[in-house]
Parts: sequence; structure tokens; C-alpha cells
Amino acid sequence: AFDVLVIGGGPAGASAAIYAARKGIRTGVAAERFGGQVLDTMAIENFISVQETEGPKLARALEEHVKQYEVDIMNLQRASALVPAKAEGELHEVKFESGASLKAKTVILSTGARWREMNVPGEREYKAKGVCFCPHCDGPLFKGKRVAVIGGGNSGVEAAIDLAGIVGHVTLIEFDDKLRADAVLQKKLASLPNVKVIKSALTTEVKGDGQKVTGLVYKDRTTDELHTVELEGIFVQIGLLPNSEWLKGVVELSPRGEIIVDARGQTNIPGVFAAGDVTTVPYKQIVIAVGEGAKASLGAFDHLIRTT
Ligand code: FAD
Repeated sequence: AFDVLVIGGGPAGASAAIYAARKGIRTGVAAERFGGQVLDTMAIENFISVQETEGPKLARALEEHVKQYEVDIMNLQRASALVPAKAEGELHEVKFESGASLKAKTVILSTGARWREMNVPGEREYKAKGVCFCPHCDGPLFKGKRVAVIGGGNSGVEAAIDLAGIVGHVTLIEFDDKLRADAVLQKKLASLPNVKVIKSALTTEVKGDGQKVTGLVYKDRTTDELHTVELEGIFVQIGLLPNSEWLKGVVELSPRGEIIVDARGQTNIPGVFAAGDVTTVPYKQIVIAVGEGAKASLGAFDHLIRTT
């Protein structure tokens, strides 16, 4: 059995594995796709001390770093169930879709999250070519340009306010006939001169020239008329879904499905920790996931020396 079994091989999982292995304890990482969301990212310019890198390059570096240690890496393994230990001193079990199962004294859940997509023509094709999901990451790429934010909830309105300070013009597109963001955010948004809000609008297509985004088409839901907005960037802010479906009913989740953790990364189950985008810790970023992974791993080690 493992002392520490990490589920998920993104920045949080890689960091957790390295911190555990450096304690000289038996460590394993099982991941569906080692590298995680980083693999889907092009330019990364905010991982502090690395001025500029690309997603696949950073993912490789994460894996290389983990491989410097004695860690069992089990790639292409999708976890399907967690069976917590029945009593202190017993082992937790993680079951996989492949039929395999692993046992461990402590488990670190770092299965990340995924952005909800609009599912319209052009969106996939122009991902990272104008279609973005993270204003903190990609906002500066659109300095002085025209962008749209899709979604008028808190994250959409926050993104629009943030981007308005960097880009030339922001069009915020909301499906409903009203924004759902907090009143204070809506007030701030309304005070900005370079933001236009379009409500009752359904985005139907992302347009591009083969290389990059050139505009979007939306349908006015009150008239059914189609309109085109010319722009260079689209930030989709219609939800971030934590990869925690497989833990429902076992680990305590927030109403949004995020794993609830304490300051040491521990979940409601003793010996089961969590880190990164799958948790309630706010601001989903690589640098934060790496820090949270280290923290959960030290939390797991602390738990081990007290219980075994
Ligand atoms: P993830 O990276 O999501 O990794 C999750 C891991 O768990 C993966 O290995 C996955 O395969 C695995 N997994 C999921 N479910 C299961 C399961 N059931 N069983 C086994 N394994 C499972 N952040 C920045 O700081 N800077 C940027 O420039 C930046 N750009 C981004 C661009 C894009 C397009 C996207 C999508 C995100 C970007 N982010 C950026 C956000 C950043 O990638 C995430 O915050 C970070 O990757 C979170 O790390 P994580 O380890 O928590 O989760």
C-alpha cells in the first residue's frame, strides 16, 4: 500500500507527489492525463520565475521533476470511486475505471476542473487562437484590442471589469434578460466607459479567418435576429466544473461541487486531502495549485506521523 496516493497529475498533483516523495515515503500518482489543463494551454507567462513557457513544455517539466523521485506514476487511469478507511489505521481504497484498485494510508485528491464551453461552431477551432477561458492568464494578450466576455454571472462581470482596464473595448454577452452578478459588481461595470452589455443574447458562432478569431455571432432572443460583433478575443465565463462527480456522497462538496478543505488541505475524511482547482480554494491558477499541492502533501505527512 502507498503512504500517499495522489489522484490527478496536474500542477497540484505533481507538486503533492514531489513533496511526499522527498519525505522518503511510498508515493504514487494516478492520473487520467498527466499534465492536466496545462496541456491545453499555449503561452504561460504568470508562473513566477518562469518568464514565458508553453503548456506542453510545462507539463513535460512537471513530469520530469516528479520522475527525479521514486514515485509510481500511473498514467491513463481514471478514478471512479473512493472507499474511505472504516477505522483509523485502516487503508483508503481508490477504484479505477480499468478495474484496478489501489490502497493507501493517505489520499490526495487533485483532479482539477474543466471550463464549461458554449458548444458553438468555431469555439474549439479557435481555442487559444482568440477563444480564452482565463482573464488573469490571457487578458494581457489583448492589450488595446476588442474582446467579448460570455456570461453575466460573477465571474463574467469580474472578467469584464478586469479586462476593461487592459483591452480597448469589452462587449459582455448575457443569455438572460438580466445580469446575475452581485449588485456592487454590476454598478462598477456600468461605470466603465469602454464596456457594452448585451442581454437576452445567445452566442451562436465564433468567427475566424482560419488563423485567429475575428468576431462572434449572437441571436437577439427577443427578436430572433442575428448580429455580428467584430473582435479579436472571446472570454468564455459560463462556469468552471470541478472534476469531483466521482466523489459525490463520499467527500463533502460545496454546492458548486468543489471539495471542501481546511487550511491544511484536509477534507471531511481523516487522511483524505485535496488540492488545486477541484477544491474550494479560490482563484484557479497554476502557481496556486502548485502551492496547494505542497500544502496538502505536508498535511498528509503530518497525519501519517501522528497516526502510524
Ligand atoms: P488540472 O490541471 O485540471 O489537473 C487535473 C489532473 O487530474 C489531470 O491529470 C487530470 O487528467 C486528472 N483527473 C481528472 N479526473 C480524474 C479522475 N477521475 N481520475 C484520475 N485522474 C483524473 N493558469 C495559470 O496560472 N496561467 C495560465 O496561463 C493559465 N492558462 C490556462 C489556459 C487554459 C486554456 C486553461 C484551461 C487553464 C489555464 N490556467 C492557467 C489554469 C491552470 O491550468 C489550472 O489552474 C491548473 O492546471 C490547475 O491544476 P490542478 O492540478 O488543480 O488541476
